[in-house]
Amino acid sequence: MLENREQGPKQHAVALLPRLWNAGNSLIGLVCAFGGRGAWRSEEKVLEVSGGWLISLLARRGWAQAITLGDVVLYADAALIPLIHAHEMVHVRQGRAWGPFFLPTYVLESAWQYLRTRDGYYNNRFEVAAYALDTRKQEN
Ligand SMILES: [Zn+2]
Repeated sequence: MLENREQGPKQHAVALLPRLWNAGNSLIGLVCAFGGRGAWRSEEKVLEVSGGWLISLLARRGWAQAITLGDVVLYADAALIPLIHAHEMVHVRQGRAWGPFFLPTYVLESAWQYLRTRDGYYNNRFEVAAYALDTRKQEN
């Protein structure tokens, strides 16, 4: 009871700030989700979308099975969600921390790691953090 009383409008506004900071990326995610089927995951406050034009295009070329854009996570197939969810939630938290700087910084980090190591994906620091929680690694 006491905890509920302490959750006033100010606390709700503070909790909303990272999502507002990430709203530009979420808007890009919504545009890229067009044509997919979305489901709201209330505990983490993300929209999970199966399909949509962007991830379908990337998956067909073998480039990606999922992509996080703001608070919108796009999966090539709903069956992938249990496997990739923990990984993508790391990117959601990164997006909420970095806001509008996340996507440009991610691209620059990929380019930097590609120049350094010829692997701009697995050596990207944002991916290293996400793969640390990735359940797919534990299956192999
Ligand atoms: Zn990733």
